[in-house]
Amino acid sequence: MRELSARQVRIDDSFWSPRLEVNATRAIFHQWEQLEATRCIDNFRIVVGASDGFREGWYFADSDAYKWLDAASRILALHPDPKLVSLTDSLISLLTRAQTDDGYIFTYNQIHFPNQRWVNLQIEHELYCHGHLIEAGVSHYEATGRRDLLDICIKAADLLVRDFLNASNDKTCGHEEIELALIRLYHVTQKMEYLELARRFIERRGRVPLYGVRWWLERNDFLKRKAYVDQLRQNYLAQHPEYKSFRLPGGNYAKEPPFRQLRYRLNALSGFYAQQHAPIRKQTAPVGHSVRFGYLETAAAMLCREDQNLSPQSAQRGKTPEPNNPPTLVSSPALAPGASVVPFVFKKDSYESLLSAMEQVWERIVTRRMYVTGGLGSAPHIEGFGGDYDLDPEYAYNETCASLASLFWNWEMALLTNDARYSDLFEWQLYNAANVGMGQDGNTYLYNNPLTVHHGVTRQGWYVVPCCPSNLSRTFADLGKYIYSYDEDNIWIHQYASSEATINGVKIKIESGLPWNGKVKIHIKPEAQKEFPIHVRKPSWNMASPKASTASGYDPRTAEFESISRMWSADDEILEYNFDMSIRLRHAHPKVQGHAGKVTVTRGPIVYCLESVDNPDVDIFTAQLDSASLGDEFVSDLLGGCVVIHGKTTDGKSLKFIPYFLWANRGASQMTVWVNSK
Ligand SMILES: [Zn+2]
Repeated sequence: MRELSARQVRIDDSFWSPRLEVNATRAIFHQWEQLEATRCIDNFRIVVGASDGFREGWYFADSDAYKWLDAASRILALHPDPKLVSLTDSLISLLTRAQTDDGYIFTYNQIHFPNQRWVNLQIEHELYCHGHLIEAGVSHYEATGRRDLLDICIKAADLLVRDFLNASNDKTCGHEEIELALIRLYHVTQKMEYLELARRFIERRGRVPLYGVRWWLERNDFLKRKAYVDQLRQNYLAQHPEYKSFRLPGGNYAKEPPFRQLRYRLNALSGFYAQQHAPIRKQTAPVGHSVRFGYLETAAAMLCREDQNLSPQSAQRGKTPEPNNPPTLVSSPALAPGASVVPFVFKKDSYESLLSAMEQVWERIVTRRMYVTGGLGSAPHIEGFGGDYDLDPEYAYNETCASLASLFWNWEMALLTNDARYSDLFEWQLYNAANVGMGQDGNTYLYNNPLTVHHGVTRQGWYVVPCCPSNLSRTFADLGKYIYSYDEDNIWIHQYASSEATINGVKIKIESGLPWNGKVKIHIKPEAQKEFPIHVRKPSWNMASPKASTASGYDPRTAEFESISRMWSADDEILEYNFDMSIRLRHAHPKVQGHAGKVTVTRGPIVYCLESVDNPDVDIFTAQLDSASLGDEFVSDLLGGCVVIHGKTTDGKSLKFIPYFLWANRGASQMTVWVNSK
């Protein structure tokens, strides 16, 4: 399958268009203001001598600037707002000056340790930051056709090729991201060494003997460096009493597990935390930090797609090679002496073994390690996966970025396998696990997303680790690309957002009532009469699924593509669907502790919750739902317009459920997704 770019798809959807508008006109500017207010951008100004303050933020804070630039670029592809152009241009100009002559850019080292680089790779995220820089450059080039930011990225990537292509297996980043970024850079440059370096980074993981010892040594060195920086800060503050420090909200925990630090360290020492416990083909269970996991799997799936495209065996697999993307760019500096690049093709069975590992790990997630919202990560101490059926709703970390990483991966898996299950999970996670991350105003966010909140979780304008806001913004800006796919003969419909695109000379228009009503019309209008198959995803939520087939009660494996192959006339033919939007109660698997006698209320692709602000007369945690009492109603003046579900408790009190993704938009409150039901 091939994908379209977001620019090739025009979205005009009553649900999504207002959200995309908020994203493009408010959220992206709010995020810039926060980056300035928290002096993230000033860090680059300090490097170039344009500011004399003290460097602020985590050692990986540069990534927040790059991810914002990535989001802004994707927004500019659709909304060329002059104010946004001006902001991105000013940041690009700053980056041009901040980059060293040989391509390095990492403000933490440039300011505090000018003679050190590539130290403590498992902990300090230098390669992760370079990865987000590269993604921003590719997005900016795709959006504008301009080379300025892309050239910075090529310079950085060439440095990485020189320093890492022929390096040892311990030379990987503790936080994956550089791998998928290099593959994206390969797409626009066609430079094989970027693809090869990505492959080597992926293949190196899990191959370092005594990884825990290495991590421990790096941790000690990291702490020494941090203590040095802390001392520098104290000295600076003593010399500059006028300098204003500030504090940002940290983790937004509902509840923290005991022995948090110890459990984190054990997870990291074992290699699980950063997916360093086993080579990629032996990773058949999801472990560790769930954002890192998602980026690794995304890169592995992208690698498999490249193998499909480049391998002579691809024809035997029945796949269609993908044509080269934008024109090949001019070459960049030659490799260092001794560096060599071999043409990228997997060995005989390594495509199959990598795909098989990913399919197994995906199955393990949806059957045992995913919340009913599609959220990933039940272990807050590692911001990642707990054990099988370990799905405490209040511990639920479910970082917004983890859902986004899962979207990226599932899209790649959909393109790789032509299987509807991946697009089904994409839809579920998009509406519920990802969408909840941004408030209605575009200016407030949730970092972690528990399913039960007694107190302590509210939306914030910014966080001490503000990774999620711009990650959401870049994903929303790209929404159009996830709706359709195609190859030479076929067209697939993955998502039901009202939109239009022209594919293989066929104009396709979707009119969708989702997520509030199930009426969908698909207009198909070839330029001239033409025979071809179109494949339409029949959602899993439209079909009855076996009770307790998964831990969460949601099972994307029952989704399928309905294939309609016939002669299409040029007269605007229409396929009509009316998906079942009846209210469904989902039950957790009996092995999930604490969920006996509880249900989650869902309708179509939307997961519902009880929020205390709507239910002042009941205790939402002890109320007993009378499941026969449920009914739905579209309320146009609530939270931008949404379907609410009304019900009664067994003792006759009213209950009002709202979509989970809309909770926490009306001040601090309590919330629960699982409710008692006899
Ligand atoms: Zn995040």
